[in-house]
Amino acid sequence: VQYYLNNIKTKAHLNAFVEVYEQSALAKAEEIDEKLASGKAGKLAGMVVGIKDVLCLTAHTVNASSKILEGFESQFTSTAVQRLIEEDAIIIGRLNCDEFGMGSSNENSVHGKVLNDADNTRVPGGSSGGSAVAVQANLCTTSLGTDTGGSVRQPAAFTGIVGIKPTYSRVSRHGLIAYASSFDTIGVFSRNIKDNALVLETIAGPDDYDSTVSRKSVPQYSTLLHFGKPVKIAYLKETIDSKALQPEIKEQTLSVLEKLKQEGHKIEEVNFPLLEYVLPTYYILTTAEASSNLSRFDGVKFGYRTPNAHNLESMYKLTRSEGFGEEVKRRIMLGTFVLSASYYDAYFTKAQKVRRLIKDFTEDLLNKYDYIIMPTTPSTAFKFGEHSNDPVAMYLEDMFTVQASVSGVPAISIPNGVDEKGLPIGLQIMANSYKEADLYAFANYLT
Ligand code: GLN
Repeated sequence: VQYYLNNIKTKAHLNAFVEVYEQSALAKAEEIDEKLASGKAGKLAGMVVGIKDVLCLTAHTVNASSKILEGFESQFTSTAVQRLIEEDAIIIGRLNCDEFGMGSSNENSVHGKVLNDADNTRVPGGSSGGSAVAVQANLCTTSLGTDTGGSVRQPAAFTGIVGIKPTYSRVSRHGLIAYASSFDTIGVFSRNIKDNALVLETIAGPDDYDSTVSRKSVPQYSTLLHFGKPVKIAYLKETIDSKALQPEIKEQTLSVLEKLKQEGHKIEEVNFPLLEYVLPTYYILTTAEASSNLSRFDGVKFGYRTPNAHNLESMYKLTRSEGFGEEVKRRIMLGTFVLSASYYDAYFTKAQKVRRLIKDFTEDLLNKYDYIIMPTTPSTAFKFGEHSNDPVAMYLEDMFTVQASVSGVPAISIPNGVDEKGLPIGLQIMANSYKEADLYAFANYLT
């Protein structure tokens, strides 16, 4: 704990942590030392973990990096964090992110931007930018983030670490501040596969507080990392041929596929004509869900209330106008529009149907192939401000990560070398629902 606390101080300029639980982390470390001496410590004894600022921890502030949650304290602990604590992990602090998980660069945060430790002029990715940089810069051993459309995998790629988005419904969302409930997942950042597997097997599994969580038992992923048999792998032509793809990322991805072929695995190119519809589908459905989820922040129940109101109506309006950031407001408006009576069928219903087509296609493919491989992102970490005035350019950053989110299947991003500027490249692997053990074993083989 002392080692990480020192690193957090020397790397304070990265702005990854918004709060450090110094006293409680040191106290917990001492408690664990005693437990270890008597042989009674949990399986994560001593693992130092940071948590994204959207996960509740009793009697601690949680803001979702938004002014609207200023001063809000959690009334209970999220299931994922509770399970870590029960296995004697040490929660070291709260990590910066994009407001309500909306963004791909961590520039939309009331706590300010997070710097990429590989190059301080570049973004760490988002929305879980603080969680990624905390692991990249050795400020904690592992961290929890959330991935709705790529927010664990994309920052993992930009910072050269491992990040998993589990199957939708594998991990309880109880105590996670919602963005888009039918997409939200809690994911894990780490420097290696084994730590990642250990954390996921601890937090996953049935929970009486979240009726959408699967009742399937959780394999002990960390004991199943051996990979021995030849497998079938698909790559999608439209991803590799995409004009937006940085040439070095294309080369590195193709060279992994070539190496796998030489090692006796079956590699096949598959057409994915729906690729161009994945991003619009994702942004219509997530904004719709967000507009509904965020209606609860009205100045009455949570956090910030405007001091400028003169009646009830202006209290609601001013609280929301002053409390939400620009990107969040854009999405609430977009979501409200696609759900409005005259446009519901044209946008929301249509997008639901396209979601089903994408999900069916992806699951069918993953019944025929063990894995789909693609780049995690079209480019390596970009400069601050590069996309901040162009929301569509920012949304395009998610073009490869949203397929797994729309389909609900698990996906992992692992480091795959660097580009000519020395910036990390990520490789994304997808498997069918609940096949996290296969993902980890394969990722372990590749790293
Ligand atoms: N960048 C995507 C978005 O802004 C993904 C965010 C996420 O996964 N939370 O919606």
